[in-house]
Amino acid sequence: MNCTLCPRRCGALRTADCGQGFCQLPETMLIARIQPHLWEEPPISGSQGTGAVFFSGCTLRCAYCQNGDISHRNAGKPFTPAELADSLRRLVDAGMHTISFITATPYVHQILDALALYRPPVPLVWNTSGYESVETLRLLEGVIDVYLPDLKHRSEAMGRLCAKAPDYFACASEAICEMVRQTGTPVYGADGIMQRGTLIRHLILPGLTSESIALLDWVSETLPGIPVSLMRQYIPMNGVNIPGLDRPITEREYRRVRDHMLALDLPGYLQEPESASTDFVPVFCRAESYI
Ligand code: SF4
Repeated sequence: MNCTLCPRRCGALRTADCGQGFCQLPETMLIARIQPHLWEEPPISGSQGTGAVFFSGCTLRCAYCQNGDISHRNAGKPFTPAELADSLRRLVDAGMHTISFITATPYVHQILDALALYRPPVPLVWNTSGYESVETLRLLEGVIDVYLPDLKHRSEAMGRLCAKAPDYFACASEAICEMVRQTGTPVYGADGIMQRGTLIRHLILPGLTSESIALLDWVSETLPGIPVSLMRQYIPMNGVNIPGLDRPITEREYRRVRDHMLALDLPGYLQEPESASTDFVPVFCRAESYI
């Protein structure tokens, strides 16, 4: 295939075992982990967990990525749609509240093939960097129940510096509006699990609280009623060498952004301070990484 699935629109050739685009992913699905996961927001993980499918590769490849082995170095095991469908069935049998497809954009067609073989009877979550094209999201309309997009950078300069994507905000803002158009304001089950909706994640970066505040303002003005999960877990990883991003955020930085979110009266979630630890990085590509 000549791939135009994400906003990079490389048009690059992806064959069964080789990828020539920005993400360097072949057409064959590569998956780094399929296991229950308890560390998402309460309406996604609940008490039993979400069945998390961590796809290899990423269309954004942030310099500071906390999962660099899979996002930059594409570590993973090949899967067919039938094998993925079997894994989804095992996750449902294990009692998962939801199924999460994590950075799955380059494999959207293969995932749709898997879901044609087995449609889990629980909400399907599309966990994404936010760097999506509306055309690709339209392929997921009526299939994905819950969108879980990041909203990372407001300025072209930071999009360019961190992810070689100066158009990050232009694309992500348009994509998130499309996600909300598809799913509406959140609907929760009696158990508190989100059955339908969009939940926006924002990770505060050191020295960049003004970007965080501008993004929260955009959500408040553009998408009233859409919840935000404010994340404070940033730790320098993946050998990041961008000046200023070599430290965790300070308590003062966190409070500045949190207080702004509270002042805007945005619905959502605040992350616990203990989450800024490498203990929460999952184990990828080992035998025990797959259910
Ligand atoms: S998914 Fe990969 S190959 Fe396709 S357009 Fe995006 S970066 Fe390029």
